[in-house]
Amino acid sequence: MKNIRNFSIIAHIDHGKSTLADRIIQECGSVTERELGSQMMDTMDIEQERGITIKAQSVRLNYVKDGEPYILNLIDTPGHVDFSYEVSKSLASSDGALLIVDAAQGVEAQTIANVYLALDNNLELIPVINKIDLPAAEPERVAEEIEEAIGIDATDAVLTSAKSGIGIRELLDAIVERIPAPVGDPDATTKAIIYDSWFDSYLGALALVRVFDGEISKGQLVKLMSNNEQHQVLDLMYPHPIHKIKTDSIKSGEIGIVVLGLKDVGAVNVGDTLTDAKNPCAEPVGDYEPAKPFVFAGLYPIDTDRFEELRDALDKLKLNDSSLSYEPETSIALGFGFRVGFLGMLHMEVIKERLEREFNLDLIATAPSVVYDVYLTNGDMVQVQNPSELPEVQKIERIEEPYVKATVITPSEYLGNIMTLLINKRGIQDKMTYLNEERVMLEYSLPMNEIVIDFYDTLKSISKGYASFDYEPTDFKEGDLVKLDVKVAGEVVDALSVIVPRSSALSRGRTLVKNMKELIPRQLFEVAVQASLGNQVIARETVKSMGKNVTAKCYGGDITRKRKLLEKQKAGKKRMKSIGKVQLPQEAFMSVLKMD
Ligand code: GDP
Ligand code: MG
Repeated sequence: MKNIRNFSIIAHIDHGKSTLADRIIQECGSVTERELGSQMMDTMDIEQERGITIKAQSVRLNYVKDGEPYILNLIDTPGHVDFSYEVSKSLASSDGALLIVDAAQGVEAQTIANVYLALDNNLELIPVINKIDLPAAEPERVAEEIEEAIGIDATDAVLTSAKSGIGIRELLDAIVERIPAPVGDPDATTKAIIYDSWFDSYLGALALVRVFDGEISKGQLVKLMSNNEQHQVLDLMYPHPIHKIKTDSIKSGEIGIVVLGLKDVGAVNVGDTLTDAKNPCAEPVGDYEPAKPFVFAGLYPIDTDRFEELRDALDKLKLNDSSLSYEPETSIALGFGFRVGFLGMLHMEVIKERLEREFNLDLIATAPSVVYDVYLTNGDMVQVQNPSELPEVQKIERIEEPYVKATVITPSEYLGNIMTLLINKRGIQDKMTYLNEERVMLEYSLPMNEIVIDFYDTLKSISKGYASFDYEPTDFKEGDLVKLDVKVAGEVVDALSVIVPRSSALSRGRTLVKNMKELIPRQLFEVAVQASLGNQVIARETVKSMGKNVTAKCYGGDITRKRKLLEKQKAGKKRMKSIGKVQLPQEAFMSVLKMD
């Protein structure tokens, strides 16, 4: 055990985590140059395209320092806080972490969010300043920023260039020297945490574990402490992106993949403790909480006949993503679809994109909503995930909404604009730290409702792309909130209802109907678009009628031209949804998202 090192890598997006991981693997002689080809640590298409890591990958490596052999276990973490529960379980499986910061960019918001999680787990942090090959690299300034923002000593930061291969040996030596060896009792009964799980079409559900006490051996009867279910260990492997190696046991301090032969990955949950069935350990490794969705949206097939296909697609995605939750929902406007729960905004985008790309579904997504705790005058509390289901005003005693701790890091020239934005979004400042003369870190408490709609894009545009942002859910607080409805030709379009603070209802209502007016094509008749709070109309726009039928232009003459026009009109309709007798284009349902 004294020659094992378990470590994670944490970094802001694009600071070089994947490139550095590949270099470490290569330096340990674990893959050939040819195998290195493209980045190995990110496997899914969308991950590579977006440069994000969703599914954590891990690898067991061999390294020799001063003639002494070591086992280095690189425990990759999902880089985005949407997956913060999984990140925290990966970190809980590590004894130290490499904190990578781009030498030209400096500390960013996601660096901070991940550092908080690492410090919660008492990890030894090794600051790594990467991309020192860049002409714009300023390692001393970045070291200072690390000290200001995080409060750790960065004088002995390791300087690397993952691209040119500089500093990789030094980094590996630092891992051996500075990260503590795992502690645990090899003679005690089995105690391991599941920090990742996925579905393999041959082997079934797989659990990636870190063993704390005892060992897991092939053939052993084990149990999962969250549900007391017992399973036999069919096979064990050491993780590696290309060459997985079978083993008969995974010992105290080690990581490994456990094959339990289960058909459903939902039975193998991240955060659960795995122990011996006959002689279980007294306490689990940490508190187990099932993944909790924070953001909800309705997903509807544009073509109503494809509802069952959408269900199958969601079932398939769920095989590898137990955090995805959904239930059927009907909308007067959109027909049959699903209310889907996501871990966060990125998770939502990735799922939507995969449904469209991998399953060829054309979808309408309603505006994302957070979960509200609605306390009723009769003493009951209901959780509302769909704004159109908010009970009548008379029945509501109060509404509580979820808050996040938000971190923003920005060049100081945009500070004024950003603080105005945060105030407009009902933010309350907790802390402001100058990282140096040019860059500032802001920490705010913010209603989550304000960041699911349009926040990130606005932040990026007012800071010319320079501000970074990250968040972590905290608690629920009372809010003065109302439901804003949209009526098209006198009918409420349920899929467009949003819950907003009373103070901004008027301005949002006005913007909303104005945007809608632009998006609704002229019909044969005049269409009123109204925003209302209950029965009270607070804003109105009118889509003028187009007066004549499209074919009227043809003067009855050219019949082929006439047919073409009608076909064109029909094709256009495919992407439309009829609300009463009005045709609404797909974009109209997203207009709720553009508030400024
Ligand atoms: P991740 O998002 O943290 O995983 O970052 P990646 O490893 O995907 O790297 C982001 C970008 O930075 C890629 O284009 C890399 O080629 C580049 N990159 C990574 N490390 C270095 C480095 O040391 N020097 C330079 N110049 N570029 C680097
Ligand atoms: Mg990456």
